[in-house]
Amino acid sequence: MKEVAPGIYWVRMPLPFALEHINLWLLADGEGWTVVDCGYATAPTRAAWERIFAQHLAARPVTRLIVTHCHPDHIGLCGWLCEKFGLMPWTTQSEYLLAHAYYHRIGGADHAALVALHERHGLARGKLAAVNWREDHYRRGVPALPGAFRRIAHGDKFEIGGNSWQVIVGHGHSPEHAALHCEALGVLISGDMLLPRISTNVSVWPMEPEGDPLGEFLASLKHFMVLDAGTLALPSHGLPFRGIHERVAELKRHHQSRLDRLVAVCERPATAAELLPHLFKRKFDDYQLVFAMGEAMAHLNYLMHRGALKRTADPDGIYRFVRRVAIA
Ligand SMILES: [Zn+2]
Repeated sequence: MKEVAPGIYWVRMPLPFALEHINLWLLADGEGWTVVDCGYATAPTRAAWERIFAQHLAARPVTRLIVTHCHPDHIGLCGWLCEKFGLMPWTTQSEYLLAHAYYHRIGGADHAALVALHERHGLARGKLAAVNWREDHYRRGVPALPGAFRRIAHGDKFEIGGNSWQVIVGHGHSPEHAALHCEALGVLISGDMLLPRISTNVSVWPMEPEGDPLGEFLASLKHFMVLDAGTLALPSHGLPFRGIHERVAELKRHHQSRLDRLVAVCERPATAAELLPHLFKRKFDDYQLVFAMGEAMAHLNYLMHRGALKRTADPDGIYRFVRRVAIA
């Protein structure tokens, strides 16, 4: 546990996939502690938590748990932590409900829907067999969820350890991601909305195949531009950093360059799967392929909704995207 700002402690927990770690935050909060995010449910993460509870909390209990969003590395041990300390998680309504949809595989959060979406977007059937990670994926990381929550929403303010914190909701990475900002301390717990090195995943998911998560994500970034330029960002992955305005500008440039590339190559009709090599230089394992396809669909939907690309469907229902050209 490392103190990164007065009363704010950084804990790093292992992850059993490519990202390797997640950062969690413990905030001294009067007679207890506020914890932000839970970690993925593995034995090493539980053991790390037990060590923290035994050795680092000065015999004070966890009195509040805030969950930034429903992804398994963030909400994973929520049920376990809540039961241990008799808590309800503080989170946004959409994240709470979507966590339950994923957990119960309902409302389009099931494997068949994922396969169907990828097939429509041109992923070959052989490839689809490999894309089977979601079937048990969520419950592996999130073995239990509480049956009630305390709602937080954009703009909400509450006190933690004598300081006022404000909720900044972001969309596009997950439906209602909660970042937390403390003006007095100059600290932003940015969750997955602002990461220092990798760009946050922004994907179309089967639940909302016509969605515009990239448009939502880019629009959400404006909330970080009004914060003080010297704000210390505490991200969920990577190292704490300063320079949030520059990071937002970089992310915008990154997505714009992908959009420009797609418009350029969609001179001929192409599926999302066919366009992957134009967006990503590296090869993917099965797990990463789902995120890469999701990103490709997010950029294509963005361009389609703004009229830059037109989407066609062949008799098998396969989607292709082509540039709208004014023919002289
Ligand atoms: Zn996430």
